[in-house]
Amino acid sequence: MAVAYHKRTHKNGELRITDAGQEVTLVGWVQNYRDHGGMVFVDLRDYTGVTQLKFNPETDPQAHETARALRNEYVIAVLGHVAQRGANINPKLPTGEIEVEIRELDLLNRSKPVPFEITDQCDASEDLRLKNRMLDLRRPQNQSIFRLRHRIASAVRKYFDANGFVEIETPYLTKSTPEGARDYLVPSRVQQGHFYALPQSPQIFKQLFMMSGFDRYAQIVRCFRDEDLRADRQPEFTQVDLEMAFVQADEVMAAVEGCCREIFKQGIGVDIPLPAPRISYQEAMDRYGIDRPDTRFGLELQDVTDILRNIEFAVFRGPIDSGGVVKCIVAKGADKLTRKITDGLTSELRGIGAGGLPLTKVIAGQDGPEFSTGVAKHLQPFCRAVCEVSGAEPGDTIFFAVGSYGDACKHLHYVRTRLGEILELIPDDEWHLLWVVDFPMFEWDEEEKRWFSTHHPFTAPRDEDVDMLDSDPGRVRAKAYDLVLNGTEMAGGSIRIHQPDVQAQVFRLLGIPDEEARAKFQFLMEALAYGAPPHGGIAFGLDRWVMILAKAQSLRDVVAFPKTQRAVCPLTDAPSEVSEGQLRELGIDLRPEVKAKKDQAAGGPEHVHRAHDE
Ligand code: ASP
Repeated sequence: MAVAYHKRTHKNGELRITDAGQEVTLVGWVQNYRDHGGMVFVDLRDYTGVTQLKFNPETDPQAHETARALRNEYVIAVLGHVAQRGANINPKLPTGEIEVEIRELDLLNRSKPVPFEITDQCDASEDLRLKNRMLDLRRPQNQSIFRLRHRIASAVRKYFDANGFVEIETPYLTKSTPEGARDYLVPSRVQQGHFYALPQSPQIFKQLFMMSGFDRYAQIVRCFRDEDLRADRQPEFTQVDLEMAFVQADEVMAAVEGCCREIFKQGIGVDIPLPAPRISYQEAMDRYGIDRPDTRFGLELQDVTDILRNIEFAVFRGPIDSGGVVKCIVAKGADKLTRKITDGLTSELRGIGAGGLPLTKVIAGQDGPEFSTGVAKHLQPFCRAVCEVSGAEPGDTIFFAVGSYGDACKHLHYVRTRLGEILELIPDDEWHLLWVVDFPMFEWDEEEKRWFSTHHPFTAPRDEDVDMLDSDPGRVRAKAYDLVLNGTEMAGGSIRIHQPDVQAQVFRLLGIPDEEARAKFQFLMEALAYGAPPHGGIAFGLDRWVMILAKAQSLRDVVAFPKTQRAVCPLTDAPSEVSEGQLRELGIDLRPEVKAKKDQAAGGPEHVHRAHDE
């Protein structure tokens, strides 16, 4: 008789010793099977865990016979009684004190031999796992990642719902929204030669919602950016996107903090201390060399330019004289910093473009601290002053960076992070949230000789800096804020420009001519002209939140069907070629060099031709 699998009584992680004697129906996948001299044991798995099943030839010879033919990943339903395991308790399993003695077994489906084991210990390559992602997702670790992801998404929705935010979808087939990346384009069939852009973010639409009077909007939304992929990027990713009318930055930040509280609580059961501290962009750069500092550990940067202004050592003097800086980091009690380690660090720094890594150690001299080794002899006259300013003491090592402010920050940020790791100063069970505010509104691009928005062109300047928009754009600070968690940027947003004339001025400053602004953003300019309320918002990357809270290694681990670094989906093989017919309908002809490459890859044009005819 078939087991009524639709009437399962328990999941496989649930049964305990207190259930002994109960009749139960279980369903799931065969994790493994063992034939022990007549007795067959099967571990049955579902998303909650595993239960040991025992097939005794005397209880039901037919079930026992079927059980002997079970293989990994077969799908079964069973009926039996919960029994104590007696001496064979498995203390590692929550269900380890019981087993289920089976009376009836129903084989619901067979499985081909799987390409890798469905366990957390599985060491299959990422490529193989992603090609078989449906199997990979069966692994307990992945089950818990995606359930964490669900808890976070659901906490976010509940929070915004409870706080008066309206969830409204914004279009995917749309026009370019500048967020600093390349657009993914979708050709139009009915308007040949015209293209939609997939949204890099719903930025303009959410601003329009404020102009439409919705007051507060929040959406969990997919965004698309065609970037050269790094380990922590995906071409499509999910943002928690929100916008609020009649607010200043404080209200947006408070709303985000409330949401973070829920994410931590519902996601991983942690009460996060709030409000998060705030520092300005400038302070973050000065103290940490980066605008998203990891504040779980010290090793702050110090500026010693003024002290060393008269140094003779050309390596330092040259950059100082040409307007550069000397910054340093003091590593305390650095016994671990052997020559081998500092040499290694020096070559890593060369790898990121530094000339080297000047360093020296502080020792106790007769009349106070002295420098020893490294650049000691050049810096000796300044020893006392450098130690005073930087707090260095005998036993410490001082690392220097010399050059432009930007380079010195970049290089010492690298040194700081590596020292944090080497000296094991970074606690991995602490969560440090931090707001970075007052970003510069624009960045100068030396190559293109023009200004770019640091955030995006809709970000408002600080009121007291508006007058500098024309005279000194580089000094204008924006009403922008980023939320940083343990050194990772988790959210970024701003108060927006709501006056059309200021928006037009900013477009001009960015070198977007009036006609182009009209073509691209006319609907925004129109909307701004019809009584746009002051408004602001923020977006945070859901994938990144899940990755950090799950302590996963890469975004690919927390996206159900991720793309590789070549922007390919190994499961579906997307992107793929399309037929000549489809291209014709879209009015598209591949460029000759692309065609030639394709032909070559497919083994000659004839082959391609046949493939299309099929
Ligand atoms: N649209 C911005 C982004 O995607 C966020 C915001 O300004 O609200 O980064």
